[in-house]
Amino acid sequence: MKLVFATNNPNKLEEVRLLLPKKFALLSLKDIGCLQDIPETAPTLEGNAILKAEYVNEHFGYPIFADDTGLLVEALNGAPGVFSARYAGEHKNADDNMDKILSELKGTDNRKARFVTVIALKTKDELHLFKGEVRGYIEQERKGSGGFGYDPIFRPEGYSKTFAEMSTSSKNQISHRGLALRKLQAYLHAVTGI
Ligand code: IMP
Repeated sequence: MKLVFATNNPNKLEEVRLLLPKKFALLSLKDIGCLQDIPETAPTLEGNAILKAEYVNEHFGYPIFADDTGLLVEALNGAPGVFSARYAGEHKNADDNMDKILSELKGTDNRKARFVTVIALKTKDELHLFKGEVRGYIEQERKGSGGFGYDPIFRPEGYSKTFAEMSTSSKNQISHRGLALRKLQAYLHAVTGI
């Protein structure tokens, strides 16, 4: 069964490919010829995931799921949250985003943060949401070279490594996206048998 994942981020695609059964032929936005920048203008993660999923379903007709992720830092009152991608500006640069958080937390003891992912699944007639969350801490500096985005500065609770120091499959087992994806997978299994 063909299923579109509304992303062109190779790291996200790899995470999702590792988790979903191979019987789902997973297509990226590029694979279906969707090259435009889909607007992410909603004030919530749920809203943005729905915007992306509905846009692609409406214009391209495939069953599709889209994710939207936010890093919520407790000492920053939940920022960057829905603005995680462009926290340091519209150029959406991961290094600049991390630098901004590290500098804002300088001298702060409360390093608590959490990642939240919302996945919206849109088929012709239905819309479903799946949420995953992982708690952890913002490190004092970057650690590790794997992953993407904020991974080098985020250490999940109960672990000594950042996400960027873990393999993709280890990250998948505990991550926000991994948790949301397993809920999506359980739903797909219930309705398709795959
Ligand atoms: P989006 O869901 O692609 O809009 O992601 C929002 C922001 O969070 C972007 O800056 C991403 O790089 C970052 N992000 C999303 N997922 C992860 C993750 O699993 N680890 C680290 N950063 C992430």
